[in-house]
Amino acid sequence: MTYKPFNSFEMAQSQFDSVAEVLSLDEGTRELLRYPLREYSFAIPIRLDDGNVRVFRGFRVQHNDARGPCKGGIRFHPLETLDTVRALAMWMTWKCAIVDIPLGGAKGGVVCDPHNLSMREQERICRGWVRQVAQNVGPAVDIPAPDVMTSAQHMLWILDEFESIKGARLPGSITGKPVGMGGSLGRTEATGFGVVFSVREALKELGIRVKDTTASVQGFGNVAQHAIQLYQQIGGTVTCVSSWDQDDKISYAFRKTNGINLEELLKITNRYGGIDKTKARDFGYELLAGDQWIEQDVDILIPAALEHQITEDNVGGISDKVKVVAEGANGPTTPGADAIIQKKGIFLIPDFLANAGGVICSYFEQVQSNMNYYWTKDDVLGRLDVKMTSAFVAVSELARKRNLSMRDAAYVIAVDRVAKACRDRGWV
Ligand code: NAD
Repeated sequence: MTYKPFNSFEMAQSQFDSVAEVLSLDEGTRELLRYPLREYSFAIPIRLDDGNVRVFRGFRVQHNDARGPCKGGIRFHPLETLDTVRALAMWMTWKCAIVDIPLGGAKGGVVCDPHNLSMREQERICRGWVRQVAQNVGPAVDIPAPDVMTSAQHMLWILDEFESIKGARLPGSITGKPVGMGGSLGRTEATGFGVVFSVREALKELGIRVKDTTASVQGFGNVAQHAIQLYQQIGGTVTCVSSWDQDDKISYAFRKTNGINLEELLKITNRYGGIDKTKARDFGYELLAGDQWIEQDVDILIPAALEHQITEDNVGGISDKVKVVAEGANGPTTPGADAIIQKKGIFLIPDFLANAGGVICSYFEQVQSNMNYYWTKDDVLGRLDVKMTSAFVAVSELARKRNLSMRDAAYVIAVDRVAKACRDRGWV
């Protein structure tokens, strides 16, 4: 399949169009699935700590709910756009479908930079965000979750405001809550661990032992930290990580060729996943330009920062040693770069499969919250492994059978499931 690169939404649509061709979807189904079912774009006026009012832009996009209530995170980012949120909402639909959980796809965002906002100001944004969409979200409609630069605390503020509006305790209306306040054990680890479950399965297929592998990771936030934790636990060595430096407004890569020490780096990392470069140097890390993470001589690359990070401009820098790219982030590889990675014969695990651990565990959290009964961490992570592994195996079997890339095979399965749900409901 060939994909044309545009902005994130056009890229998501272009990916969908290619799959629609392969599945010979009828015009009505294509028209329905190319666009979100519903989208909300609104203003959030906030009184800042200095007494001035500032108006932030908020979004919630619900792409499709044929398979169940919508599900998706809320991102705080200064460069957030409605088109990015639309793309991410569409990818959520495919992500829920590929891992076969009974949920649809949504995404939300606020155009803001939390680095420059106090926690009280962020709380007001969270409460303001949910006041604008309270009539359009909820446990049976659309269940938000944390994402880039939002945390369990943000989710609890949103839940508290939502419950005040509804006059009831509705813990199943949001996920990613703090443990003890309706959150699930294992949720924090889920996305990163899920990435590594899929890496483990890919290495198994390639006949490579995890112990013999090295990895370079872009990002050092929630996804990256827990991916590194499990990858190291099962025997892998991470030689390079990168993160955004808020002071210098550029990213840096931190290298230790005999393996980074996760505990050590966590101690010098801020809550946004930014590593303190001066302290890292003191700990013996080599400081490189941020984009060097991709040029490392490793077996596995894990982009786990933001979208559009592996492009036609830097894909040529990927070492011939690299055998697996596991997309921890959403949309990290542009279509042009994707084609080159395929040509190089690298085993790429596509974002909506590789990073589905978060939404799987969010689904587990929702189930637990609705039952008001909570599972043990081992129970949650064991169930996560089963879901991730069976989804991976289904995709790789189809890829082999139909001679498709992993991304195309995952799309074929996911889009087919959603299209079938739309047909079964009589929508198309
Ligand atoms: P996060 O905010 O916790 O961490 C992001 C990390 O990326 C930080 O370490 C930051 O310093 C780094 N970063 C930002 N820009 C960078 C750059 N240009 N170069 C290098 N590093 C950079 O976010 P997260 O929750 O870990 O999410 C990361 C990605 O994974 C996003 O694409 C997100 O949509 C996706 N994702 C997250 C989850 C989840 O459960 N958190 C689930 C699925 C997908």
